[in-house]
Amino acid sequence: MNVTTLQDLNSCPPAVFVEALHGIYEHSPWIAERAASLRPFSSIAALKQALQAVVTQASADEQLSLLRAHPELAGKAAIAGELTAESTGEQAASGLDRCSLDEYARLQELNTQYGDKFGFPFILAVKGPTGRGLTRAAIIATFARRLKNAFDTELAECLRQVHRIAEIRLNALLNVALRFGPQVMDWAETLGAISDSSEDLTCAYMTPAHVRTAAQLADWMREAGMDVHIDAVGNVVGRYAAARPDAKVLMTGSHYDTVRNGGKYDGRLGILLPSALVRHLHERGERLPFHLDVVGFAEEEGVRFRSTFLGSSAITGRFDTALLEQHDGDGVTMRAALEGAGHDPSAIPAIARDPASLLGFVEVHIEQGPVLLERGLPLGVVTAIAGSSRYLVELTGVASHAGTTPMDMRRDAAAAAAEIVLLVEERCSGRGSLVGTVGQLDVPSGSVNVIPGRCRLSLDIRAADDAQRLAAVDDILAGISAISARRGVREQLWKLVEADAAPCSPHLMDMLGAAIIEAGLPRFDLLSGAGHDAMEMAKVTDVAMLFTRCGNGGISHNPLETMTADDAEVAGEVLLGFLRRIETYA
Ligand SMILES: [Zn+2]
Repeated sequence: MNVTTLQDLNSCPPAVFVEALHGIYEHSPWIAERAASLRPFSSIAALKQALQAVVTQASADEQLSLLRAHPELAGKAAIAGELTAESTGEQAASGLDRCSLDEYARLQELNTQYGDKFGFPFILAVKGPTGRGLTRAAIIATFARRLKNAFDTELAECLRQVHRIAEIRLNALLNVALRFGPQVMDWAETLGAISDSSEDLTCAYMTPAHVRTAAQLADWMREAGMDVHIDAVGNVVGRYAAARPDAKVLMTGSHYDTVRNGGKYDGRLGILLPSALVRHLHERGERLPFHLDVVGFAEEEGVRFRSTFLGSSAITGRFDTALLEQHDGDGVTMRAALEGAGHDPSAIPAIARDPASLLGFVEVHIEQGPVLLERGLPLGVVTAIAGSSRYLVELTGVASHAGTTPMDMRRDAAAAAAEIVLLVEERCSGRGSLVGTVGQLDVPSGSVNVIPGRCRLSLDIRAADDAQRLAAVDDILAGISAISARRGVREQLWKLVEADAAPCSPHLMDMLGAAIIEAGLPRFDLLSGAGHDAMEMAKVTDVAMLFTRCGNGGISHNPLETMTADDAEVAGEVLLGFLRRIETYA
């Protein structure tokens, strides 16, 4: 029996199912054997999740045997031609069979060190996030980086790579054609090469790279079938118009600016994915009963003018025009930067949308954390965006000689700060969504032999529940006073940010959740600890957010930020399912 579809896999005898999947997980038929009894699967995504769950529930010995069934990269077995057909093809596709002598020597050295440290071979889906293959240089760099991991971290990463390999093999077996994912990954790659800096990805507000990025987004949106304009604050606004001109607007989007040395998907995913969906709808001639506005928000990160949400605040009508006189690090005002890029700052207030025209706002964003990754889930529904309080604290003690001042006669500002760091950690631990961080800690012009006379530190307190956050802030501020008084240190405080939590709309969340279940995945809800444009949009309309899994341990605001074409694909399916649910609601 030739098994080529999900229907075949669902209906064939168990032995045929196991045989059909024999190459998906390397030399480990027990995985397909255990998954066979879980049939039928409603989608290929559901099949992948079931296979992964079998591995997750397996014993530690079984997991290790699965890892040890894999060959080394460009190892002796590869040279001797002893790999499975799947591994041979994958290694050849990444050019591992064409290594230079230096690359080969380096890989052998890494294989040896890695094997000595972990006791299993280094496993990497060499077809990479796009499925088209990593370069040898990228493979070697990843190998060297992961060699530094702790055992448990690396074991978990290898298992995830095994699942990624299985996913790519399953796509090939079942001739899965991805409709959105590869396009989104390609676009993100192209945008990722447009940067203010030659070494990394930096796209700060109204720089030449920022203006080029906007123009590129506008071109793609136009090609996808949208009417596009770039507004006075730099937002790229594409409309996929409804048949009826007086229809309401569903807005989606995210930001296209980046932090310094940022990642390729932060923000951009939420613009590119809906653009790919519009292209798909437009090609099919399918109209929606509402205008779908895809917005690339010009600014969210606050890098250049230290002021965030410039793009989305213009749309909500809350753009503070006093900010136009703010200077960047080079003394350029925001007004001059806008005018230099051909914008008319006086037109910004007119960008504001009438809330009555909006059906709601939905934002797709990479999670920027490890929660979905560790649960093995590609998607999550955001419940709320955490509120945050930020303070700057300056402590003033007495700087005196480190050798001559007895311990009981000191007023050490840094020692007081150390107590405050631990107080923040203690007060915010084990209390649900509450988190507290001292991210900046500085002894200005400190020296080795001087007791710190001054110390500056930052406080960042967040929670889904505003009352819980404010209670923690009160306790921490009282604690700072008590610590300072006891140590004879003077404290000064500046409040930098106080933003309320933005809860997502339960009925929009339910529509996202239903679309996730329809795609064959479990619904999983999580809080967003980071701020997003949806937080600003929540001031005028109902909002929802869909998070996608963030690879490489969940790292973001970093060039190592990564995701896969398959995760983008299923996010696209879910967003499409969400839009179709809005149809009935509109
Ligand atoms: Zn972002």
